Amino acid sequence: MSILIKDATILTPSGPLQGNLFIEENLISQISKSPITEKAEFVVDGRKRIVIPGLVNTHTHVSLSILRGYGENLPLQQWLSEKIWPAEAKQSPKDIEASALLSFCEMVRSGTTTFADMCIFDSKEVFDAATKVGMRGIISRAGIDFGTFSKNKLTEITSSLNSSSEYSNELVKPSVAAHAAYTCSEELLIKTKELATKKKLKYQIHVSETRKEVFDILKRTKKYPFEYLDSIGLMDQDSIFSHAGWLTKKEIGLAGKQGVSIASCPISNLKLATGGIAQLYELDQAGANVSLGTDSAASNNSLNMFETMKMASLLQKHHYWKADIIGPKKIFEFATINGAKAIGLKDAGTIEVGNLADLLILDRGPNLYPEHDLYCNLVYSAGPQNVRDVIVNGKFVMRDRVITTIAEEQILENANKSATNLVK
Ligand SMILES: [Zn+2]
Repeated sequence: MSILIKDATILTPSGPLQGNLFIEENLISQISKSPITEKAEFVVDGRKRIVIPGLVNTHTHVSLSILRGYGENLPLQQWLSEKIWPAEAKQSPKDIEASALLSFCEMVRSGTTTFADMCIFDSKEVFDAATKVGMRGIISRAGIDFGTFSKNKLTEITSSLNSSSEYSNELVKPSVAAHAAYTCSEELLIKTKELATKKKLKYQIHVSETRKEVFDILKRTKKYPFEYLDSIGLMDQDSIFSHAGWLTKKEIGLAGKQGVSIASCPISNLKLATGGIAQLYELDQAGANVSLGTDSAASNNSLNMFETMKMASLLQKHHYWKADIIGPKKIFEFATINGAKAIGLKDAGTIEVGNLADLLILDRGPNLYPEHDLYCNLVYSAGPQNVRDVIVNGKFVMRDRVITTIAEEQILENANKSATNLVK
């Protein structure tokens, strides 16, 4: 397939460029100020439109979107143990499929092309749903041996994670996850990371989401969570630590030294009232790879990465009492190139010749006029209402606001049915 986008504002790493972009197969093959004469199968009029890299959401639970708005106004532990885990345990494979498809529709419409997901149960339905929609991402089944999960034997858990880490195609890759240090035994944490290393896969884990969890780990191990996870070999460039809202200066230094990826989920943290604010400025300065995530639509309650960029930026300003603590360009990089890096993509996250053609064509609605600074507009003013076309791996997933790969109406109906049955 080939696509030519004509006369658009193209956001390149060196700034916006007025010109043309050519996609051949799955790659960006030309970017030029002068006309591109090559014939393309699809030609897009780029006037009054902006081409930007697709957004990367590095922390999701797509199987939970059908629980959006269910179990509201509870703190994290109570929300998980009384609402989410019991409902999740009742989900049939059909419910997981319905929820994942709903999530991917929302992601596409809000400009996300790539995601990193964590599932407590088998991730086959998530894999199939992502494949159907045409998303890029990594999926995982998370190890957990706490509470109602404690009856499962370690060998059974690792063998189920092992089989879940077989689902793979060109766009959707497996990864290995452990739910968290407070829901996993040390043995399970080590075994899961060993499995990821052996299979050369990315590793995902929730870390330092709540203050309680930090002090529980400190009591149990005499170490703060990042120090503890580092001491058992879990912190490296192939790990994605989600949340990281309660860190000491020493832990921030450690994160930088090890080059771990952070998936900060500001909206979920605020909504679950976890209190801590991830020190993204210091983490980035220290050398950690800072990226952004929404967390699930059950705790967020959306998968909108535009909203997440804005909230991440505002929280840093507010936290440090410093309006220029992180500029919008840097925040945008957290949501694009750093996200791509967290997931293990080297040639993605920016619009450059030779990179994967994962990009968005935005309509310049009233919220994007005037344009003193494009990054400012993207982080503080843009939203799903501007997303007109979504291209993943050189193919349209949404064109002229119509999702091309699946029947969206049917998906919304199925999700509603599953949700109603589940909480009945
Ligand atoms: Zn999570």
